Amino acid sequence: MLKSFRRAFWLSLLFSFVFALGSSSQTLRPEPERRLAREIYKQFIEIPSGFTTGSTTPIAEAAAARLKAAGFPESDIFVGGVNPKKANLVVRYRGTGKRKPILLLAHIDVVEARREDWSMDPFQFIERDGYFYGRGTGDDKAQASIWLANLIQYKKEGFRPDRDIIVALTADEEGGGPFNGVDWLVKNHRDLIDADFALNEGGWGEIINGRHVANYLQVAEKYVMNFRLEVRNKGGHSSLPVPDNAIYRLARALTRLSDFAFPLKTNEVTAAYFRQMGEIESGPLKQDLLQVAAGSQESMQRVAAASPAWNATLRTTCVATLLEGGHAMNALPQLAAATVNCRVLPEDSPQYVEATLRKVLADDQVSLKALGEPEAGPPSPLRNDVLEAARRATSAIWPGVPVVPNMVMGATDGKRLRMEGIPAYGIQGIFIDRDDIRFHGRDERILVQSFYEGQAFLYDVVKFLSSPSS
Ligand SMILES: [Zn+2]
Repeated sequence: MLKSFRRAFWLSLLFSFVFALGSSSQTLRPEPERRLAREIYKQFIEIPSGFTTGSTTPIAEAAAARLKAAGFPESDIFVGGVNPKKANLVVRYRGTGKRKPILLLAHIDVVEARREDWSMDPFQFIERDGYFYGRGTGDDKAQASIWLANLIQYKKEGFRPDRDIIVALTADEEGGGPFNGVDWLVKNHRDLIDADFALNEGGWGEIINGRHVANYLQVAEKYVMNFRLEVRNKGGHSSLPVPDNAIYRLARALTRLSDFAFPLKTNEVTAAYFRQMGEIESGPLKQDLLQVAAGSQESMQRVAAASPAWNATLRTTCVATLLEGGHAMNALPQLAAATVNCRVLPEDSPQYVEATLRKVLADDQVSLKALGEPEAGPPSPLRNDVLEAARRATSAIWPGVPVVPNMVMGATDGKRLRMEGIPAYGIQGIFIDRDDIRFHGRDERILVQSFYEGQAFLYDVVKFLSSPSS
């Protein structure tokens, strides 16, 4: 029995090996192209570009050197940024100019990583047990190196797109603030990156229990609003309490907020998302997911209750995150304050959110002040050409896996482009296990196979979107 088990084991191993060989010739780029992508990836990972301790400039310069060596004219390569440590690279691969350019975007800064927090050197590129390890392997240097390697390949082939293909590798997405590369380019060199639309991070592929289930196309993002709530009293000695107490007053207002929820609804993007999820799902929620897409309030309530992520997809949320108050153990409080953090659906206006909060707090003694300027970006239109290109390329590599449009809760540089009128789509085709997401964390890694499949996928997507129509 043991013997036959062993034989079955070796047979199955042999089969999967043969199968892997057979499928790899369809779904991966040829070996020299994979080698180039890996070489660039390794180089990018090993240049520390943490947004406070590192620099993106050596990466931008390394990319520029590779492009020049590949024959790109110097006049089509731009390296520059807000300061000498924060350079961005922009390169233009010229097409016939029949259509407006497309912009391929990836950020080359990373979240800080300390050696002592990791089980290996975060700035050494390591391939082990089927994974690539290193800070930025997932976020976002895989896409950055793939864009570059594929662009070099298009040139090598003599591919003549009917539109310019622009690749921009940018600084300080993670850091944000004054050094953000996309912001700087939009304000100072709009002409360099002006495009019909952009492809960027924010979409990924999802693996659940070893199965590729969905390839996400990110079309919209929520935006952030922060509010400070304050109640002020004249205070006094705690031995002589009075009915009007700042802490109680604030607490009651916060309780009203905790009992409140913004209306459940879908937009074009999230309706499409739930429709697709309904088709994938096989459990008891299947019908509800499909009904959400059709606008059923009852189904939305059940779906929102089933998962915090679905709840956040279906409504604007506001939650208390910080609390302060009082100044002495034996004094009536003169101040009680709270910070409320809101994640707002793109179609809800800042005015609507603020007015709703006032109504919910229902106390004119509770002052409400918005902190900072909200950066609301409109959703990108669900363009058919982008969706079709993603679908075609997806079914070539992962037959049967759907492309699922989605909205993310976090923020990417795509929002800055959308605010400037350049629709942005998050698409990578890099598949990650749902339970193994290590972006921003320790021992960041992605599957070797996912990297090379992502390369082949993005190679196809960009070609579909830039080939002269026959
Ligand atoms: Zn990122």
